[in-house]
Amino acid sequence: MSAVVSLNAGSSSIKFAVFTLDRDHVPTLSGGGKIERIGMAPILTIRSVDGTVIEQKTWKDGQALTHAELLSWLFDWARIHLDGREIAAIGHRVVHGGPDFAVPRLVDEALLGKLESFNALAPLHQPHNLAAISAIAKLAPGLPQVACFDTAFHHDRPRIATRFAIPRALHDQGIRRYGFHGLSYEYISKRLAELDPGLAAGRVIVAHLGNGASLCAMASGRSVDTTMGFTALDGLVMGTRCGAIDPGVVLHLQTQVGMTAHQVESLLYKQSGLLGVSELSSDMRALSASDRPEAQEAIELFCWRAAREMGALAATLGGVDGVVFTAGIGENHADVRARICRRLEWLGARLCETANARGEPVISLPDSKIKLWVIPTDEERMIALHTASLLQDGAR
Ligand code: ADP
Repeated sequence: MSAVVSLNAGSSSIKFAVFTLDRDHVPTLSGGGKIERIGMAPILTIRSVDGTVIEQKTWKDGQALTHAELLSWLFDWARIHLDGREIAAIGHRVVHGGPDFAVPRLVDEALLGKLESFNALAPLHQPHNLAAISAIAKLAPGLPQVACFDTAFHHDRPRIATRFAIPRALHDQGIRRYGFHGLSYEYISKRLAELDPGLAAGRVIVAHLGNGASLCAMASGRSVDTTMGFTALDGLVMGTRCGAIDPGVVLHLQTQVGMTAHQVESLLYKQSGLLGVSELSSDMRALSASDRPEAQEAIELFCWRAAREMGALAATLGGVDGVVFTAGIGENHADVRARICRRLEWLGARLCETANARGEPVISLPDSKIKLWVIPTDEERMIALHTASLLQDGAR
């Protein structure tokens, strides 16, 4: 039996999940973990499928440890602990596939070069995703690596949904709405088709509400519109990102307040959203536990903006048959779901408060015009499925 590894390399963390493949290349999760605090004092935690910690390691003087060195450590660990199973391929989450890539691709030098040209489109994520690919190419030359793009699921949206109202030449240079969280949406689309095929064939809004948050409008399981745009900064209120903002604010901060572009970037990506409004935390659980008015206002703004954008997507879809909540907040935070659903009553949504409080999969009342679902997302499995499928194609 062989194994594939799903890898999500960010600026200060690397998350990974190991899947064994059976003879038909069907992946089964066998464990996973993360390395956090890279660049400070890295901490590695590896868990088995039932969540038990099977390895924990800290590097106290690890400031200088690079992603490549930490990955090398991880590879050595996997060689010893994978019970003789061979890693057949690594699947990577790559945030930006640019205007061209609609499906996952096997990485080679030419593809890597092309993907590097999208670094400027996602400066906080793309370079780290690609650095992990380069590091593994050096550690294990010849090991197949697959790039799975967060933009790919949105690639075939109607053209109108990809345009900003700016001069055409800029659109042609790639300044357009791409959309992200595509691996999560693809997984939910697939899972909904298994759980509720009738609904999956209709008009559905999926709410991926985590530290990063966005919505996707799906018709027959395909993305037709989404709230994130050129970058993962657009759309909803997020943990530390502002979401949609009048571009005039950005101009004002630079020309009148005298902030540099770098300072504005940090403000909008790292100091805004729930954190900026609450002045307390970017974490929804911490805000819920607080009775400070600023914390409560941050939660209310998060829910109000989510419902407002759902109204916009309902217009895109010409009506809504279902809403699916997913990711950390969407899957776990009953109060946030309830606040959003109450704002959708004008569309005919009727929440079952009991099912919602209990965290059941279906949280709408039988007479609700909109079916309300809670479905856990699994981006790692989606990456493993794509990687296994490309391996199988290669073996044919
Ligand atoms: P990321 O975008 O980093 O993957 P997650 O999907 O893990 O984010 O979501 C993180 C958010 O989910 C945080 O705001 C956190 O408070 C919230 N969250 C996670 N677990 C729970 C829980 N059990 N109850 C309420 N909120 C939760």
